[in-house]
Amino acid sequence: MTQEELEDDFREAGQPAYRAKQVFSWLQQKGIQDFSEMTNLSKDLRLMLSKQYYIGNAKIAQRLISKVDGTRKYLFRLHDGELVESVLMDYHHGRTNCISTQAGCRMNCSFCATGRSGFSRNLTAGEMLAQVQTAQRDGGVRISNIVLMGMGEPLDNYDNVIRFLNLVSDSNGMNIGMRHISLSTCGLVDRIYDLAEHKYQLTLSVSLHAPNDEIRQKTMPVSRKYSMNELLKACESYEKTTGRRISFEYAMIQNVNDSDACAEELAHRLEETLCHVNLIPVNSVAGTGYHKSSVERQQKFVQILERHGITATVRRTLGSDINASCGQLRRRKQEEVSHV
Ligand code: SAH
Repeated sequence: MTQEELEDDFREAGQPAYRAKQVFSWLQQKGIQDFSEMTNLSKDLRLMLSKQYYIGNAKIAQRLISKVDGTRKYLFRLHDGELVESVLMDYHHGRTNCISTQAGCRMNCSFCATGRSGFSRNLTAGEMLAQVQTAQRDGGVRISNIVLMGMGEPLDNYDNVIRFLNLVSDSNGMNIGMRHISLSTCGLVDRIYDLAEHKYQLTLSVSLHAPNDEIRQKTMPVSRKYSMNELLKACESYEKTTGRRISFEYAMIQNVNDSDACAEELAHRLEETLCHVNLIPVNSVAGTGYHKSSVERQQKFVQILERHGITATVRRTLGSDINASCGQLRRRKQEEVSHV
């Protein structure tokens, strides 16, 4: 709940407004898990709260810590048994937490592990916050950056994600500014226009993964609904409305989208857009048959884009020894359960 919503409830219950601020701060800043820990409230009030409300949480079902770089991967169990994944890494000049926005995903990109384990439900804003707070507490660090790049399609859970963005950036709460947040989407065009209207200063990452509709349709079913022309038009409009440069994600898959011709075509398509291209060597997921492009291919791709004036970088891989990319732990757990 937002502080304003708490204030409304407290007013109705005959409580002073400053109580709402205290409760909001316990929940958001301190991330407490139980009403009994709200020690500056009377016992009666704590009892009343515990009868009428619950505190959303994310229990750690599994924790893997990379020996290579300290990246922490969590599998969280939600109140109804749903499993979601989060990753805590040292990245982008601070501690970055990659969180999930849905249990599973409906987008079914062919290279992605999450879609393979099906879609269960949307997460609430509270469940997104709980991932950040639990990772922060467990890691013993202050999280400075958040990326919505875990399981799920954030713009397919639009209202809860907007609510989460407002809560996590609240100066009375975790106070993580929009400039420290990235939201990644497979390209739900209508929602990109909606998001632009908020004029948030977050970074919008768009998963492109192809230079044209023909290749994109082979790997991303969403591209049958929205063409690349429509998507790139939405991106240009987003950039004009918000003043923020778009970041395009491009997972490099051997012999699928990594040729020189693909790089030339991509550069041509992105000429009009103020953007940055993030190349990600694809993570092999069992059953997909995809392999990552060679280092030489990656470098050549960057060179071609840069020759056309488009900045591009190859994303550093973190947590490679713990399968840190999302979707894989949930899937394994589900398989374990189904084999029992
Ligand atoms: N649904 C959102 C965010 C979640 S996935 C989106 O599509 O953007 C975060 C990023 O990881 C996306 O760019 C996604 O395409 C990419 N991704 C998924 N599976 C991958 C894999 N096996 N290797 C590399 N990147 C992958």
